Amino acid sequence: MLNLVLFGPPGAGKGTQSEKIIEKYKLVHLSTGDLLRSEIKGGTELGLKAKTLMDQGILVPDEVVIGMIDNKLRENRQAAGFIFDGFPRTVKQAEALDALLRSYNEEITVMVGLEVDNEELTKRLLLRGATSGRPDDQNVDLIRKRIQEYNEKTTPVADYYRQQGKYVGVDGIGEIDTIFTTVCRAIEK
Ligand code: AMP
Repeated sequence: MLNLVLFGPPGAGKGTQSEKIIEKYKLVHLSTGDLLRSEIKGGTELGLKAKTLMDQGILVPDEVVIGMIDNKLRENRQAAGFIFDGFPRTVKQAEALDALLRSYNEEITVMVGLEVDNEELTKRLLLRGATSGRPDDQNVDLIRKRIQEYNEKTTPVADYYRQQGKYVGVDGIGEIDTIFTTVCRAIEK
């Protein structure tokens, strides 16, 4: 099985690269951001709670996203592999993911980190906000808060996989197809 974590700050291009990776490697896409937005759309209790935090650019509790991933792994037992997008975002989530995969005799194959500087991220998110309708992409303060959450809580996750020898950094600025070629090289290494 190929189990890939696609890592990087908001606006690094994880969604765009995910689509291309899924097509090429036939992986099941697990994006916690997408899963949470679908809970909000469905008006569920979980969605309502998550929305309050997401509207402030704050991470939702670890137990909530770990539970969602647990369900999805269970539902997709026949998958050729998974691409984790926007998850894990804390070391606690990374440890829980390792434990879940271990229970299936599986493990993370590689973490590919898309590296993009803060100025470019803000520019890209505002541009995306103009068309995506995502409220958290339309406000500079909220974008700053999300990048701050990323720097404080999520960057240690890269170290977690680096210590396991699984982190590969990729320059996330440039042509989408050029970045994709580098991502594929990192996956197949
Ligand atoms: P994203 O679509 O990945 O940018 O996520 C949008 C928002 O959903 C984030 O700002 C968080 O509030 C929440 N979220 C998504 N994934 C996670 C996660 N793995 N852990 C905690 N919160 C998350």
